[in-house]
Amino acid sequence: MYYNSTRNNNISKTASQVITQGISEEGGLFVPNKLPEISEKDILGLINKNYVERAEYVLSLFLNDFDEVEIKYCAENAYTSEKFGCDEITPLAKLFDGTYMLELWHGPTCAFKDMALQILPYLLTTSAKKSVDNKKIVILVATSGDTGKAALEGFKDVEGTQIMVFYPENGVSSMQKRQMTTQEGENVSVCAVKGNFDDAQTGVKTIFTDNEVKNKLAQKDMMFSSANSINWGRLLPQIIYYVSCYCELLKTEQITMGEKINIVVPTGNFGNILAGYYAKKMGVPIGKLICASNQNNVLTDFIKTGKYNRVRDFYTTISPSMDILISSNLERLLYDLSGRNDEKIKEWFNSLNQNGSYEIDVDVKEKLQQEFFAGYCSDEDTKKTIKEVFDKVGYICDTHTAVAVKVYEDYKKETKDDTKTVIVSTASPYKFTDSVLKSLTDNIPQDDYEQVETLNNMTKLDVPVQLSELKEKQVRFNKVIDKKDMIKYVSDLLELDK
Ligand SMILES: *Cc1c(COP(=O)(O)O)cnc(C)c1O
Repeated sequence: MYYNSTRNNNISKTASQVITQGISEEGGLFVPNKLPEISEKDILGLINKNYVERAEYVLSLFLNDFDEVEIKYCAENAYTSEKFGCDEITPLAKLFDGTYMLELWHGPTCAFKDMALQILPYLLTTSAKKSVDNKKIVILVATSGDTGKAALEGFKDVEGTQIMVFYPENGVSSMQKRQMTTQEGENVSVCAVKGNFDDAQTGVKTIFTDNEVKNKLAQKDMMFSSANSINWGRLLPQIIYYVSCYCELLKTEQITMGEKINIVVPTGNFGNILAGYYAKKMGVPIGKLICASNQNNVLTDFIKTGKYNRVRDFYTTISPSMDILISSNLERLLYDLSGRNDEKIKEWFNSLNQNGSYEIDVDVKEKLQQEFFAGYCSDEDTKKTIKEVFDKVGYICDTHTAVAVKVYEDYKKETKDDTKTVIVSTASPYKFTDSVLKSLTDNIPQDDYEQVETLNNMTKLDVPVQLSELKEKQVRFNKVIDKKDMIKYVSDLLELDK
């Protein structure tokens, strides 16, 4: 196995090269030249294995230039029961008969980004040893909330790395701010930027592409890398939980071997659901992939019409991690559905860049609609769903997951499809306590921790220690800087001018 770029089939690289490099020179995304297969026999062999062992199996199919010891090292360090608070790592809860919740939020930051960002640092440092002479890796992240914290937790105290996170001064929730400014670890720094997320993002991009900075870094035996969701090292770990979840359903005799299941995913950048598509193509018996969006329903329109159009209003919703108008990982799907047509991909994504839109060919659209169903859900319906599910079965879900539940209900009404279904649950309700509480009651305290206590009293769901212990933690980072000073901030921290 090797990796091509979605915009140039002639590029051919190893896993460690694509993980260190992140994105291809010409702007394409890295994809395996061929998806490995998982047979029924392989799945049977995984049923009685634990999450780490299943992870090792899936990773070994893709990481062509990693050896067994390295893969074991990565998986064992990432998915520990200490970090995830349970042995299953991704527990499966029964919502109704035939409907299950795959809970991906038991990690250190209480959101599903941990599934990839807990292992990425190990994949990256192992890759760097092979492909870039063991250079120290400096990670820069601009964040609107979830990714920054998950990256900090993943990279903290990982040897050979240093991480700096920039967030918009007034653009993250108070819990998210608290999570980041109290971050522990010797190799981490966090800094607020005056302005919005785009300002922080532009600042990071400017530093990434500054040749003077790059040269100075090289002299010090360091290099920049990014932890964003187009890196293959972030997508690959997401395939694991789809394989593992099928094994778990078999093990608990909820399904029989070969029985198809549908998957519903609350979607933003299209990374999570794409991993589900890859799992299906590899051989996991998956039926429909149901793509759930919030009011920013660019993907719903795209899947229904074949026209992608980002020129539209942007809404700030109560499921903020899905407030996205450009879903980067869609490029990988379209590359696959078009029969690995790099010329078409270039054409469509250049058009997206220049005109804000593109339209795919009819045959690709038909394939897309065979695999995917799409729907969206307003904030009002999200809140209603949280309350209804809680009243009906006593299960409390976060705002992102509720979007998926509602879209799944709509899907069932429209299609009468009663295939057993797994809804991917992407965040702990305590991560978005304010909105979750507002769905249940009109009586909301102001203070973060009083809100947490109220929700706990109402639902009896345990408060994750990761969140409750923040209350006592010291703020370590309180710097607020102008966008134009970000480059100096980075240079000073890395002592580039000494
Ligand atoms: C990032 C995120 C999503 C969206 O996932 P994508 O892979 O970007 O589609 C959904 N829910 C939560 C809680 C998230 O943090």
